Amino acid sequence: MSKRILIVGAGFYGSVLARELTDAGCSCKLIERREQIGGNCFTRYNEEADCHQHVYGPHIFHTNSEEVWRYLTRFTKFNNFVNRPKSMSAGKLYSLPINLMTLYQVYGVNTPEEAKATIEKVRIPCDSPNNLEDWCLSQVGPEIYELLIKGYTMKQWRRDPKELPASIIKRLPIRFNFDDNYFRDRYQGIPEEGYTKIFERMLEGIDVELGVDFLADRDEWIRRFDHVVFTGPIDAFFNYTEGTLEYRSLRFESEILDTPDFQGNALINYGETQVPYTRIAEHKHFDLSYSKDKTLITREYSQEWQEGMERYYPVGTQENLDTLRRYQLLAKEAGLPVTFGGRLGQYKYFDMHQVIAAALTKAKRFLQDGFEVSDEEEN
Ligand SMILES: Cc1cc2nc3c(=O)[nH]c(=O)nc-3n(C[C@H](O)[C@H](O)[C@H](O)COP(=O)(O)OP(=O)(O)OC[C@H]3O[C@@H](n4cnc5c(N)ncnc54)[C@H](O)[C@@H]3O)c2cc1C
Repeated sequence: MSKRILIVGAGFYGSVLARELTDAGCSCKLIERREQIGGNCFTRYNEEADCHQHVYGPHIFHTNSEEVWRYLTRFTKFNNFVNRPKSMSAGKLYSLPINLMTLYQVYGVNTPEEAKATIEKVRIPCDSPNNLEDWCLSQVGPEIYELLIKGYTMKQWRRDPKELPASIIKRLPIRFNFDDNYFRDRYQGIPEEGYTKIFERMLEGIDVELGVDFLADRDEWIRRFDHVVFTGPIDAFFNYTEGTLEYRSLRFESEILDTPDFQGNALINYGETQVPYTRIAEHKHFDLSYSKDKTLITREYSQEWQEGMERYYPVGTQENLDTLRRYQLLAKEAGLPVTFGGRLGQYKYFDMHQVIAAALTKAKRFLQDGFEVSDEEEN
C-alpha cells in the first residue's frame, strides 16, 4: 500500500514535496491554516491597477540553479524583471546596491579607481569587526553607512546596529562598477501570472484542505498518517515548552493611487528613522504592466513579532539558536514520524530557490531512504 503522507503548509516547501511525493506514488494530503495556498509567496490580482499584489511582501525569484529553474518553469513563465532598488535619504535618491553610481551620488567620483581611492580614505579599518556597525564602517565609511544602512537597519531590526551580527549585512554587495542588478543570478524574474498560479498548478490533483490548523488536532493528524511534514513554526508544534523563538514581523499598508506611476521603480527603501516605513513597493513594476492610470503601492513597516502576528524573519541571536537546538533535540527524542521543513520548521531565512531546492532534496531522500531519515543534514 502506498505511504499516506500529511503535509502541513502550502508554501513552497510543502507544495513541492506534495507534488514530488504524489508523482512518486505516495498518497498525499495537504492542509493549510490560511484560506489560500502559496504561503508567503501568495499574490492576488488587482484589477484596478492591473497587476499582482505581493500580499506578504515583495517576492523576486532568482537562482543560479539550473535544476530549480527548470523545475519551476514547468509551472510558470517568468517575465524579465530585474531588481534594481533605490534608497531615499534626506530627500535624495541613491542607487542600490552600493555601486559606482551610488559612490558618484555621494562623493562625485566617476571611475572605479577614484571610487576605490575614496573608499580607502573614508573607511575606518577594524581588525575584527564583529558587529554590523563596525563591519559597515570598515567597508564603506561613515557617510554611506549613515545615509543608506544605519536608519534602515534600525527600523528593520529595532536594535542598535552595534548589537547586530555583521553576518546580517554581509550579503549586501559593494560594487566598483555601474552594475545595479541586486541579485546578479543567472535566472531572475516574476511569474507572469503571479505566484499563486504556480501553486495552483503544482497542487493539481492533490487533496488540499484550506482553513485547517494542524495544531488544533495535532495528535489525531499524526495518528492518521504514516508520516507528517510540518512547515509551521517548530516552537508552536511543541507548545513552546522550550521557549518562544523570536521573529521580526511586518505590517503592510496598501493603497491605490490615481496616477499611472508613483515612484518609477518597484522598490524604494527609506534610509531615515524619521520615516516610519522601511520601503515602498509599487506592484505594477514587478509585472512590467503599465496599462492602467492607477497604481497599487504598499508601505512596509517592521515590527516586533507577538503571538497572533505573521512571522517573517527569524532573529539569529545566540539565544534563539540555542532554543532552536533544544527543539531539534526534542524532535529527535520524541521519535515522532514528523519532519520539520521550510523557513518556520527550520527557523531559518530561506529565499524561494533555496526552499525549493531543499524540498526537492528532501523528496529524493524520502524516496531513496524512507521516511525515517534524520533531519540533521538540513538543520
Ligand atoms: C518580506 C519577505 C520578502 C521576501 N522576498 C523574497 C524574495 O524577493 N525572493 C526570494 O527568493 N525569497 C523571498 N522571501 C522568502 C520567501 O518568502 C520564502 O523562501 C518562502 O516563503 C518559504 O516557503 P516555506 O514553504 O518555507 O514557508 P511559507 O511560505 O511561510 O509557508 C508555510 C505555510 O505553512 C502554513 N502553516 C503554518 N502553521 C500551520 C499550521 N499549524 N497548520 C496549517 N498550516 C500552517 C502557513 O500558513 C504557510 O502558508 C521573502 C520573505 C519575506 C518575509
